[in-house]
Amino acid sequence: MRMRSSLAHGTALFHSRRRACWVVFLGYRCYAGPSLPLPPMSGEMVKQTIQIYARVKPLARRQQAGIYSVGEDEKSASSLEIIVPRDLADGFVNNKRESYKFKFQKIFDQEAKQDAVFESIAKPVAECALAGYNGTIFAYGQTGSGKTFTITGGAERYSDRGIIPRTLSYIFQQLEKDSSKVYTTHVSYLEIYNECGYDLLDPRHEASRLEDLPKVTIMEDPDQNIHLKNLSLQQATNEEEALNLLFLGDTNRMIAETPMNQASTRSHCIFTIHISSKEPGSATIRRSKLHLVDLAGSERVAKTGVGGQLLTEAKYINLSLHYLEQVIIALAEKHRSHIPYRNSMMTSVLRDSLGGNCMTTMIATLSLDKRNIDESISTCRFAQRVALIKNEAVLNEEIDPRLMIIQLKKVIQELKDELAMVTGEQRTEELTQEELLQLEEIIKTFLEDPDPESMLDVGADMRKIKHCFNYIKQLINRTNIPDRHLLSPDITGGEDTNTPEKKEELKKLRDLLHQRDNEINILVSMLKKEKKKAQDALFQLNTGSSGLAVSESSLSISLEEGQRPSACVNVKDTQDFSSSVHRSAFLPRRTGSGGEMSLGRQEAFEIFKRDYVDSVTIEDNKQLLKQRFAEAKSLGEKVNEVRNKINHLKGEITQRHMQRAALGVASPSEELNESDPVEERLRAQIEEEKKSYKTMFNRLKGLKIEIEHLQLLMEKAKVKLQKDFEVWWSEEASNLQDQQEKLPVSNSASALRASPQSLESQQHLYANRLKKVYEYLNKPRMKI
Ligand code: ADP
Ligand code: MG
Repeated sequence: MRMRSSLAHGTALFHSRRRACWVVFLGYRCYAGPSLPLPPMSGEMVKQTIQIYARVKPLARRQQAGIYSVGEDEKSASSLEIIVPRDLADGFVNNKRESYKFKFQKIFDQEAKQDAVFESIAKPVAECALAGYNGTIFAYGQTGSGKTFTITGGAERYSDRGIIPRTLSYIFQQLEKDSSKVYTTHVSYLEIYNECGYDLLDPRHEASRLEDLPKVTIMEDPDQNIHLKNLSLQQATNEEEALNLLFLGDTNRMIAETPMNQASTRSHCIFTIHISSKEPGSATIRRSKLHLVDLAGSERVAKTGVGGQLLTEAKYINLSLHYLEQVIIALAEKHRSHIPYRNSMMTSVLRDSLGGNCMTTMIATLSLDKRNIDESISTCRFAQRVALIKNEAVLNEEIDPRLMIIQLKKVIQELKDELAMVTGEQRTEELTQEELLQLEEIIKTFLEDPDPESMLDVGADMRKIKHCFNYIKQLINRTNIPDRHLLSPDITGGEDTNTPEKKEELKKLRDLLHQRDNEINILVSMLKKEKKKAQDALFQLNTGSSGLAVSESSLSISLEEGQRPSACVNVKDTQDFSSSVHRSAFLPRRTGSGGEMSLGRQEAFEIFKRDYVDSVTIEDNKQLLKQRFAEAKSLGEKVNEVRNKINHLKGEITQRHMQRAALGVASPSEELNESDPVEERLRAQIEEEKKSYKTMFNRLKGLKIEIEHLQLLMEKAKVKLQKDFEVWWSEEASNLQDQQEKLPVSNSASALRASPQSLESQQHLYANRLKKVYEYLNKPRMKI
């Protein structure tokens, strides 16, 4: 589909959804000129069925294991066999023991670690996204089966990082390595709850309830492309920025959640990484989207008493999962033309991921304890249907219309010039000032180019050619005139030089001149050599620690101030977590009713914190963070030391050069032209120092990422602690009120309601109640 032939006049831009290619139609007739830089239009399609994986969550302490086995099948597939035991099968599936077998690409059993899951599942998809293909990874399974753990990660340990942080890390590492293209990355984070979309990264909102956030809505253009209104795309130039955004979104989500609206189990979360890349000078842009999706819990309502039909008839609690299943059933049927994507927001947003332009992977998360056998079987059945869906991923290339126009203008100009040359038609209009300047620039580059093969190409325009000749003539004349002046006495013999005295003097002067000439030449060549060496050394140093200088400075800032550059916890915080009610700068919202804590409440908070179940891991992380900080600090100091050493050695070399140059002028000798052993030694030392600098710096970089991650985890834990405290506080308060209502009237809150008191006495009552709460909390057998 090359568009060289005649096309309609005017300019039109088309975008085909299926092919996802932009094609520019420009209004001009066919020609036989240089070829247009059109994008590759075929051969980049990849057909693939959705890949399915299973992951079995480790059993919790009191859970009773279900019976299942994992087998390696032919052709690198794995199979999962689930046995429904007789006691469960009773009134469940035809009243007899049954076994169900399901095939998956690979099954990750209980002991599988996050890095292995990332390597097998996410890395290939991330690579495709980097190459310009869309990708989706979605986790499907009942609540508590490990979807969030797999997609985002556990909230406790660095090693529990899930697919999103690992993918971000991988993508940014790859981008850093590839200098052939210019990359831009953005992220978006969408939550869909009750058929409404919310932007988890919206920087404007201060709402503390999900419902108060601006709604993200779907818009469909005439070509059926989906656009999401109100969903912000945030640019992330490095891993750290992207991680901050992820944590910001997660924290926003946590804060918006209330016990009444368990959004995290009933909502779908779509974290999307948008990558675009372009080769310098090219008009073609590649764009890809990588969706990482944590779906709502897939649990179903069981109809009791239906006997054998139970498993097939159970219905989803979540309506949009029901629509997802319908889309998947429709896609798996051969002759269905209508796919009901539009029934729900989630299926609309993920439309391309399901049977469209995308490489899609599903992870079925399973909680295979005895009580969840039926849900696990449903999840596996769903996965088997998903595996039938065929997707066609295409390379998403677009042409940037602006750059295309520039290139086409150039082609048109070339053609006009050629035409004028061939037809012999003389062009009489004057060259513009801009053209003249351009020409002079070209001539200058040509004259300065040391390559004897270089050509002066100004196109086939006689006016330009003439101007070039004129310009060069002027240049030659200008440089010759003063030369002639200088040489004239020598060449012409000048005035009277015939007297013996004059001859003698002239000879002397000539000798002196010759001597000076030699001296100058030697000095110049020395200088040149030194300059080159210095440049080489500088270049090596710069490329050796490519780009480290910048990040290093930011690192030293963060270490010196002990603070994340963009927010969050500082060192003091991590050391004194207990006294901190501090909220990070990027989380402007309040935790619901929280606000400033009263004294009593604060005390209650302290006690709550002491007995908080998660406090052990918080403490562990705190210790780990301290350790890492200390390590980073001492490493940072060492790095600085080495840097100073290198600078010092460089200074010594420069000094050495100056000494030798001075020596050369004072008493020229052959020795000075030879290499200097002292300098060689200094250089070798610099090399050594540079090596250790690099090793230490890389370790420091790794530490920095780990520290940042730990800090984010702690920040999240803090928010959770506060939230849990709020819930517990209100429960306790209402319990207490119940108790008090049974006490004599004078001491109870109902008395307050019956006869309104002055503000003072209300405060007094409040303080009394707090005291009671405090006493109550301090009871030794207190249980939270
Ligand atoms: P879901 O998102 O499916 O509701 P979660 O990811 O929140 O489930 O997992 C529930 C609990 O189980 C969490 O406490 C999580 O840390 C833990 N968990 C899930 N999968 C694993 C795993 N593979 N290894 C260790 N803990 C896990
Ligand atoms: Mg979850």
